[in-house]
Amino acid sequence: MGHRVTLIPGDGIGPEVTSAARLVAEATGISFDWDVVEAGEAAIKASGTPLPEAVLDSVRRNRIALKGPITTPIGGGFRSVNVSLRQTLDLYASVRPSRSIAGEGTRFPETDLVVVREATEGLYSGVEHWVDRDHSAAETVNVITRKASDRICRFAFELARRDHRRKVTAVHKANIMKTTGALFQTAFREVAAKYPDIPADERLIDNMCMQLVKRPSEYDVIVTTNLFGDILSDLCAGLAGGLGVAPGALYGDSLAVFEPVHGSAPKYAGQDRADPVAEILCVELMLRHLGETKAADRVFRAVWETIAEKKVVTYDLALPGYTSRPVAPSTCSAMAKEIARKVPIVDPNLPLPAPKAPGAPSADPALET
Ligand code: NAD
Repeated sequence: MGHRVTLIPGDGIGPEVTSAARLVAEATGISFDWDVVEAGEAAIKASGTPLPEAVLDSVRRNRIALKGPITTPIGGGFRSVNVSLRQTLDLYASVRPSRSIAGEGTRFPETDLVVVREATEGLYSGVEHWVDRDHSAAETVNVITRKASDRICRFAFELARRDHRRKVTAVHKANIMKTTGALFQTAFREVAAKYPDIPADERLIDNMCMQLVKRPSEYDVIVTTNLFGDILSDLCAGLAGGLGVAPGALYGDSLAVFEPVHGSAPKYAGQDRADPVAEILCVELMLRHLGETKAADRVFRAVWETIAEKKVVTYDLALPGYTSRPVAPSTCSAMAKEIARKVPIVDPNLPLPAPKAPGAPSADPALET
């Protein structure tokens, strides 16, 4: 019997990139039994709610999901499906690896970072209101608890230990946010003391943004609160080649949902233009979670070789200035087919060549950390 996985196609480019990911997952030869459920705009049309109970039940039952992005309209309307899903299912750890692939699409070919973001509280807790009747002032409450801070910091150190990573950096703003920031900082320090084998340090969020765009290779695992993590993971995606190649995973104690960092990119919806790699690398992460390590290695290698070859890549990987050799862009489905074709024939045991990209910055010994 195959792995039963909840599949949420999502909005905008979601259906295109999730069918690309499904094609590649099936090319591994592993059997999947997809439990397809709708959330977002399709669900509103069908049942009047963007996050039907059936979606939550499916994830609880299967304990694993592959998800496309879901649109959240700015301002009024429904609450974010993404935030609700994370809070309702207590998917507290959002893990977003940023790895440069073959040095393409980036000026930072050495990028290899993981952002571990607390995903259930902070400024996304949903505790907000208008202060007065004419909506001239508003408040959003930044909820930080010791329990959630402890568990996300523990999660980051466990991940660092398991994956043999170099260090864990906490990112906060404890100098200004004297309660919430300090609480997170204290939790980090106390958890770090229990992992003496893993170096730990701290950065203020503003300094961290500057550090990351100067020399990302100084960093490895980054653990932070919800809003800072959301912003930093897009920044890190940019360092590693862009949103088109940045996968992500949400973990609870017994559930896991795999979704790309990017959103529904409505302007590209239905055009077969979006980069499928982020969603395909979600399949890689999902296979690792399922213990299918060899298949995961094959998927990563097939993505790497397709990007390095640059014969069949989408527009974001074909832009002049960020690539070693500008090429005519291919479609989302063509790139997915090329990756799927390679999955059974690549040799995942060969060492990956060191990436080189144009415009890579030279080391800056004067950089203050
Ligand atoms: P976005 O990530 O959808 O798009 C930003 C830009 O990044 C796009 O215009 C495009 O240029 C590029 N891009 C994104 N994905 C790409 C891909 N696969 N291939 C090539 N280029 C890609 O961000 P946004 O425009 O801020 O958000 C659009 C909607 O998505 C909003 O409603 C937002 O709330 C939602 N969103 C959902 C999730 C999620 O479901 N987890 C995450 C982020 C944003």
